Amino acid sequence: MKAKYFLPFFVFTFIFSLTMEAQKPEHEVTEVWEPVPEVVTPGTGTSAPSDAIVLFDGTNFDQWEKPDGSEVEWTVGGGAMTVKPKTGDIQTRQGFGDMQLHLEWRTPAEVKGEGQGRGNSGVFLMGRYEIQVLDNYKNKTYPNGQAASVYKQTIPLVNACRKPGEWQTYDIIFTAPRFNEDDRVVQPARVTVIQNGVLVQNNVEIWGATEFIGLPSYKKHGMKEPLKLQDHGDLVSFRNIWVREL
Ligand code: MG
Repeated sequence: MKAKYFLPFFVFTFIFSLTMEAQKPEHEVTEVWEPVPEVVTPGTGTSAPSDAIVLFDGTNFDQWEKPDGSEVEWTVGGGAMTVKPKTGDIQTRQGFGDMQLHLEWRTPAEVKGEGQGRGNSGVFLMGRYEIQVLDNYKNKTYPNGQAASVYKQTIPLVNACRKPGEWQTYDIIFTAPRFNEDDRVVQPARVTVIQNGVLVQNNVEIWGATEFIGLPSYKKHGMKEPLKLQDHGDLVSFRNIWVREL
């Protein structure tokens, strides 16, 4: 095409497309056709959807290690993993940031101890933000430390605990914190937790890394960090752990 025809051509195309747009039935003007969401095959029940990373399928610790990189010493059996007290926390080999996490946990059927000393473990998002795991079925403790609390931060909306010895589910939607160049947090982490199908944390802000003593605060870390499970000395079991990166 010769240069002198460019402008008239574009003007024509522009007016033509406006005309076509104007001729659309009104209801079509607000229809958005792109992008088309990727197809995901849902799991059955609580099993992993097709785009999830399975972190534990009940058979092995391939995706897990101790924080020092050595082999996990917890036990596997009956499709579950169980804390082996005093062998320490375990964490995923892979790091995760924004994610949807599903896991199931069970505290011992035989009740021992009380308060924080009864079926205690924890899910540490990015290795530092703890969603408490505890047997809180008729077991009193400080509410900001009970099951499904953001430990020592946010009390769960309700106590949705099943009885000791029964499997319970956590579905967690987590948005990682964002840091600026000066290592300061510019957007705190947020978390939603659904326990046994019941909303217990509704998009709450996380105040910083979990502290047992003192107030939480943020310290810059990577965009993706390992997911950690706690050895708090109790025989807590986990199964069916999967994550979808967001
Ligand atoms: Mg704990």
